[in-house]
Amino acid sequence: MEKIQNYINGKFVAPKAGNYFDNIEPSKGVAYSLIPDSQTEDVEAAIAAAQAAFPSWSGLSIEERGDWMMKLSEGIAARMTEFVEAESRDNGKPIKLAEHVDIPRAISNFKFFATGVQHYASESHEMVGVGINYTLRKPLGVVGCISPWNLPLYLFSWKIAPAMATGNCVVAKPSEVTPYTAYLLCKVMEDINFPKGVLNIVHGYGHTAGDAIVRHELTKAISFTGGTTTGQTIAKIAAPMFKKLSLELGGKNPNIIFDDCDFDEMLSTTIRSSFANQGQICLCGSRIFVQKGIYDRFKTEFVAKIKNAKVSYPTDPKAQLGAVVSKSHMEKVLSYIELAKDEGGTILAGGHQVKLEAPYDQGFYIAPTIIEGLKFDCRTNQEEIFGPVVTITPFETEEEVLMMANSTQYGLSATIWTNDLKRAHRMANDIEAGIVWINAWLVRDLRTPFGGTKSSGVGREGGWEAMKFFTEPKNVFVKY
Ligand code: NAD
Repeated sequence: MEKIQNYINGKFVAPKAGNYFDNIEPSKGVAYSLIPDSQTEDVEAAIAAAQAAFPSWSGLSIEERGDWMMKLSEGIAARMTEFVEAESRDNGKPIKLAEHVDIPRAISNFKFFATGVQHYASESHEMVGVGINYTLRKPLGVVGCISPWNLPLYLFSWKIAPAMATGNCVVAKPSEVTPYTAYLLCKVMEDINFPKGVLNIVHGYGHTAGDAIVRHELTKAISFTGGTTTGQTIAKIAAPMFKKLSLELGGKNPNIIFDDCDFDEMLSTTIRSSFANQGQICLCGSRIFVQKGIYDRFKTEFVAKIKNAKVSYPTDPKAQLGAVVSKSHMEKVLSYIELAKDEGGTILAGGHQVKLEAPYDQGFYIAPTIIEGLKFDCRTNQEEIFGPVVTITPFETEEEVLMMANSTQYGLSATIWTNDLKRAHRMANDIEAGIVWINAWLVRDLRTPFGGTKSSGVGREGGWEAMKFFTEPKNVFVKY
């Protein structure tokens, strides 16, 4: 079986202790490659390489750094098919999704920060007649980037691109559940002769390799995307060391649908916002609130469409949903469906595992599931499930739906469907979320602040926010 390797100081290397664990293909439920079980010693070698590379990398002009980032972007594009197939195989997502969303976005992430850094300017503040302050924004040094499995290369590159563009050297760990495209990115670095030590990729588990990145005194910032509990663990270690922390965590996003919306557009977008990537996007709207006047129509049409949705193996061009990412995740999602029944919910669609023919008969498939009849404050409606499961709940007034929408510990994103301009702005203002879409979902402009409030995270990614995070401001005053 193929052995994935770490990439440290511009070289593919085995983990020092020589241990590996299985990389499972979710669509078949079988191992297809081996992942390095990296330990502290591997992370230390990566950090030493990053530290050694820092003076020359941060000393490059922004045009030169931008050129390197652009080459990374082009290098992925040159291996497009390989990346698309690898992402779909590693994660279980339909190949169409990897082709239209994941890999194009990874390409854009590098391109965006390659050019963005050239426009990134620091401030000056004149004190009339007294003098002038100017602010330097210096790279931090070595930074750690840790990413999850749901959008593997998309979220990995969303961190490492601004980190490197602003002059830092990086030690990064992709999810141990989906390591493959980060490994392919190392092949791109080899293809283009990317400066050694600038980006070091270490594979392995979170509690070992991830933990070592967080604990090391030389990692000056940790950019993390993943679960809220993991975010708490990381913050406990990093905060007392005064590291900069960017935490993008879980969500339980409301999708609020008013009577006066454009019904057809709302319905087709709601199908995506509920079940795209098997519901495993942190921005999916898993709690759907529908105003009473259109509740029955919505329920009938939504359920009919979802009952016909095709769950299939990822390379099936007709697949609307593929496999969820792992056996343990499938079991977790199915256990929430049982919980919903215990809490009094009625399953309107799905509610069960899907068995495909061989060779996919051991894969991790779940029918897209719609549940109604649950209280807004029950566990099913409060805890993150992160799978193809949504609840639908009727409401009458704006105040009522706002109270229900804001009732969870999370505050990542929200979607509002209405044609009432004033109401749309009122709701956007009052909803507790870092990102609000009105009559849309997952429309992304990479310049905008991205992230959540409450237990959904700390700090923002995207545009200037990411570049500010990865730099340290230093104010200098000069007297006239
Ligand atoms: P996870 O927290 O289990 O793992 C994320 C990453 O952290 C992995 O690389 C893992 O190895 C590492 N990790 C785990 N324990 C660690 C530790 N103690 N120290 C350092 N690193 C550690 O999350 P996941 O299951 O991979 O991803 C799903 C979660 O991610 C969901 O909660 C989802 O909402 C969230 N997510 C959030 C966003 C966002 O932008 N807010 C985006 C995508 C996913």
